Amino acid sequence: MASDESAAAPISTESFRANRPDIVGPESPQKPFPIHLSGAVQHGFGRGGKDLGCPTANLPDESMTPMSSVTEAGVYYGYAQVSREKNGQAILPEEDGRVHPMVMSLGTNPFYKNKNMSAEIHIMHDFKADFYGHPMKAIVLGYIRPQLDYTSREALIEDIETDKRVALRSLARPAYATYRADRFFDLNNIAL
Ligand code: ADP
Ligand code: MG
Repeated sequence: MASDESAAAPISTESFRANRPDIVGPESPQKPFPIHLSGAVQHGFGRGGKDLGCPTANLPDESMTPMSSVTEAGVYYGYAQVSREKNGQAILPEEDGRVHPMVMSLGTNPFYKNKNMSAEIHIMHDFKADFYGHPMKAIVLGYIRPQLDYTSREALIEDIETDKRVALRSLARPAYATYRADRFFDLNNIAL
């Protein structure tokens, strides 16, 4: 995200929603991206991500330090990988341990008066089971949109679907797609 974008005038939610592009950001990731995150998945605030068809895996606050160069709350895109293992045992099936596209919601944590941003990651893969406590890695590659005020659940669900489509199309560009095989991820025995 260019820093001058964050200084833009307040966005009218409805006009923004009506004019969303299919593909976002420059042809290759620009600073501060790529941003590398890792930590064990922890329980979130139970805001019902699953009820919206969009479960979001939470990372602990200390895993968020690399995001400190980003100050804009909103939705980001990149890749993520969940470890098949928990406590040294491979629990998840092989396909769940692959590197998958993700969308990440970055929000301010009211308890910390905007000092800490909290991130929730929705991985675009159909997991067979929950993976609380599993190590997760993510590479954040770009910015999709600001946080918007929603008046209806339908509008929110519609925008999440748009976010996923935009993320997939944006990640399909060669300079982004290469991060799927980045050495930051665990690529042993994992077919992409
Ligand atoms: P919480 O408030 O605890 O984060 P959610 O309803 O957001 O609850 O569900 C998140 C949990 O769902 C994750 O921690 C993970 O264990 C599980 N999960 C299953 N599928 C996914 C997915 N595709 N992306 C992210 N989390 C998923
Ligand atoms: Mg969640």
